[in-house]
Amino acid sequence: MDLGIKGKTALVCASSKGLGKGCAMALAAEGVNLVINARGADALEATAGAIRQAHGVEVTAVAADITTEDGRAKVLEACGQIDILVNNAGGPPPGFWPDWEREDFIKALDSNMLTPIALIKALVPGMIDRGWGRVVNITSASVKSPIGQLGLSNSARAGLTGYVAGTARQVCGKGVIMNNLLPGSHDTDRIKSLTQATMKREGISEEEAIAKRNAANPTGHIGTAEDFGAVCAFMCSDYVNFMVGQNILLDGGAFNSTMG
Ligand code: NAP
Repeated sequence: MDLGIKGKTALVCASSKGLGKGCAMALAAEGVNLVINARGADALEATAGAIRQAHGVEVTAVAADITTEDGRAKVLEACGQIDILVNNAGGPPPGFWPDWEREDFIKALDSNMLTPIALIKALVPGMIDRGWGRVVNITSASVKSPIGQLGLSNSARAGLTGYVAGTARQVCGKGVIMNNLLPGSHDTDRIKSLTQATMKREGISEEEAIAKRNAANPTGHIGTAEDFGAVCAFMCSDYVNFMVGQNILLDGGAFNSTMG
């Protein structure tokens, strides 16, 4: 299926590894030129090279912390016309509800709510002028089903979700389609470190920890960055004109509900 986005340009934030990389690869496979970003230059350059080699698209790599004003300025300076924005950044650390102070919330809000909002504000006006744009915000399954120890993430992402719900409906009439993509467990470095934590906590082997984790999902396994990227690319496609301000959960059915 040709998604109708060949020749467009996407900014995919936090994309040297994991879900962001999966999205960048899937868009490149559709002929989309890219601006990719991460803090670490080595992994970022390696990913840029791999994408160019696999798909022959133009890739601009900008090493910067997307959650800072300076980092965003550096990324935006490297961007020409951006048709597709995929918002992503690292998630806030786990913890316990009475321990989080104002500074912890401010940091989480900066990373996972105010950064995507700043990039939307910077890039959506150009999309509106040109009459076509797509925005996908990578949030988390924790928006629908809270994870206690990730209270900073639950809070900041809920704030972004509220902003997107209202904004998506104000820009869709101008050709800009904005939605959120909610990952459940996917096999990335982040999950590897959580598996290590389970092994340590429960005194079990890696195989046992992985088997336990997989058994907890109705599919019997967790998602991959490739699965995630494919859905993201579809949400950035020319076919997605009437899906507005939605929260698309990609979790292998882990969220147990009949509807919603
Ligand atoms: P990951 O494998 O750890 O990859 C994170 C990527 O983001 C790396 O390329 C990293 O590169 C980059 N990055 C992190 N912080 C950055 C920053 N401040 N500025 C620029 N780049 C940054 O993580 P992931 O599993 O793909 O997760 C992506 C997002 O989805 C996170 O917000 C995570 O909380 C959320 N999520 C993931 C899962 C899951 O199962 N994987 C589930 C729910 C939610 P550098 O370190 O070099 O910057």
